[in-house]
Amino acid sequence: MSIRQKLLFKIKSVELKKVIAPKKVSTYFGQDTFSIEVMRKHVSKKTFDAFKLWIAEGKTISLVQANEIANAMKNWAIVKGATYYTHWFQPMTGLTAEKHDSFISFVGPGKVIEKFSGNKLIQGEPDASSFPSGGIRATFEARGYTAWDPTSPAFIIESKLGKTLCIPTIFVSYHGEALDKKLPLLRSEDALNIAALGLLKLFGHKYTKKVFSTCGAEQEYFLIDKNYYNLRQDLIMAGRTLIGALSPKGQQLEDQYFGTIKERVLNYMFEVAEDAYKLGIPVMTRHNEVAPHQYEFAPIFEESNIAADHNQLLMELMKKIALRHGLVCLLHEKPFAGVNGSGKHLNWSLADDLGNNLLNPGQTPEDNLQFLAILSAVLRAVYLHGDLLRASVALAGNEHRLGANEAPPAIISVFLGEQLTHILNMIEKGVKSKVSKSDIIDLGIGRLPKFNKDTTDRNRTSPFAFTGTKFEFRAVGSSQNISTPIAIINTIIAESLDYVVGQIKKVTSVGEDFNAAVLKVISGIIKETKDIRFEGNNYSEQWIKEAKKRGLPNIAATYSALEALIKKENILLFEKYKVFSKEELVARYHIWVNMYNLTLEIEANVLNEMVNASVVPAGYKYERLLSCALDKLVRLKKSVGLKVNAAALIDKKAHLSEVVSSIYYVRKNTLAMVKLLAQAKKMKDEKRSEVYFYRLKPLMEHIRKHVDQLECVVADDAWDLPKYREMLFIK
Ligand code: ADP
Ligand code: MG
Repeated sequence: MSIRQKLLFKIKSVELKKVIAPKKVSTYFGQDTFSIEVMRKHVSKKTFDAFKLWIAEGKTISLVQANEIANAMKNWAIVKGATYYTHWFQPMTGLTAEKHDSFISFVGPGKVIEKFSGNKLIQGEPDASSFPSGGIRATFEARGYTAWDPTSPAFIIESKLGKTLCIPTIFVSYHGEALDKKLPLLRSEDALNIAALGLLKLFGHKYTKKVFSTCGAEQEYFLIDKNYYNLRQDLIMAGRTLIGALSPKGQQLEDQYFGTIKERVLNYMFEVAEDAYKLGIPVMTRHNEVAPHQYEFAPIFEESNIAADHNQLLMELMKKIALRHGLVCLLHEKPFAGVNGSGKHLNWSLADDLGNNLLNPGQTPEDNLQFLAILSAVLRAVYLHGDLLRASVALAGNEHRLGANEAPPAIISVFLGEQLTHILNMIEKGVKSKVSKSDIIDLGIGRLPKFNKDTTDRNRTSPFAFTGTKFEFRAVGSSQNISTPIAIINTIIAESLDYVVGQIKKVTSVGEDFNAAVLKVISGIIKETKDIRFEGNNYSEQWIKEAKKRGLPNIAATYSALEALIKKENILLFEKYKVFSKEELVARYHIWVNMYNLTLEIEANVLNEMVNASVVPAGYKYERLLSCALDKLVRLKKSVGLKVNAAALIDKKAHLSEVVSSIYYVRKNTLAMVKLLAQAKKMKDEKRSEVYFYRLKPLMEHIRKHVDQLECVVADDAWDLPKYREMLFIK
């Protein structure tokens, strides 16, 4: 029996030992966060008011006040059982990082007390010099600094033997350059706020103080049994299978989507949700996805900065809790070739401090006009900066998804739905060029306010789709930190909002009526940006051709997509809005190209070892079985005149030859791969990426093809690697 077959007897649903009666969520939601309400109870009114002004208007608080907050936070955390604290941050490499410190301080020989000062709350200095900085930090000033982000509440993370207070922070260099993903997001929110307030002011809103982006990130993932995982070094090292034949049943019956959630998985989902609720993460829906053993969590949307922190935390919880259920949570974009991969649909909108969603078509013609003005700004942003959107989702894992007939293509376009399209067409044609208060825009399709939400039809293939009250950016990878995609969306939209404001002012300055001026500007943008709109099937061949005709880029390779970050005009754009400096962009470009290379090198080396240490030996074992059988037969034929059907003998020989050839091809290509890796080592990063994309990846695919052929003929008891049919179908 193979190791794999023995394992099959062990796989079983884990019964929960103790059945805990579920508590009402409202009784414990956010109990492990130092929320604004908790803070209000623990600090003086003066300090609390100062804190609120800090958040709302960026006014600084004094060190005395910071000390008071730090002390309150520490006391709250200690009462809850925390003994350590950490500045929690998001380095450029996509994980979250933390350095833990104890609360204790000496107050005499051998005597300690728990202490936490304002200084330590506001700023930390983790010796994090081993995080890549893309050249921003020279070694002599290698230190990075963490600084408290007061807009995101601190929280407590529980492990079996202790609790840690986690303080969300940004991570910067000595000179203030962003070394993380959070700071650019915060800066982009400022840019967006200023631009959007400019537009709202033009539309006569006097009381709006703040505009911010909102985000709800739908998180897809796979769950597989931990026992299988342990036997697959590709899953352990690379997060995805590098070899493995498709099982006869894949997802073709689509019987998994929204199916009943099996009990073991359901238990897992309950536990994730409970832990998420304690941390104030509003996980809302859960369901099965298209592929077998693929699932999704969707949260209620929040302010983007919080949503981004929450998504990072949720991913950590998902991975951690899976282990408690004997499962492993795979967040890779494409863990199983041949079945659907995982994405993270990033739902994005604009909200103001008065509770309005600015992408919600309003009740009056003026509201609608404002809505259409903002919508046109979004269209223009995507039209002009599709390259940046593509760059924001460029990573090795996502390369397997984008354009692979299951996820949005690498071509960025916008879907608006039939009714909105119709309205924009009418405006473009000038059918309606004037609106007044008494005149609800009648475009021959009924009244404008009716066109929202429910009537919007669904197009699941579009990378950037308007879905009633928000846009849904569907190209984001499941493992990604959403901070960067949001920062990029915010920036390009800030720029377009500024453009719209500028144009409206220009037209009104020559005496044009305000509403007519707005319509004129919208109409101009509609004309200009037409090529970015596509309502059809984004997965189709025709669209690829059509997009090419329209001149829309279709960038498959990660390293090419990342080049957008260092294009001159894009550097100028980000510098203008103070979201990234040139150095920060160049650093990111280098780090992300390098990460791509490292990822592919790890994959190739793992594949090499799997081939040599597992696949080929299994092949030889089977080859020996066949050759022994054949040899014996031929001998018996000779020695005792055994009658052997001539065709059967030919077939036996052919089968053996096939196996011999398969092993040969696997080895030959693997040797070529190793040689290519050695050559590439000497190349510069960009060149290396190019070689990996155009030569290494096809070679790896080729090896996989032959390995998978072997998997389907080699005797089952000689094959130790868990197969798709087991990993994906055993419950
Ligand atoms: P749908 O099924 O139409 O996509 P849902 O209401 O189920 O819409 O929402 C899907 C995701 O979009 C959820 O995560 C939700 O929180 C998020 N979402 C809804 N409204 C907004 C908004 N205004 N801004 C950002 N995200 C939103
Ligand atoms: Mg969705």
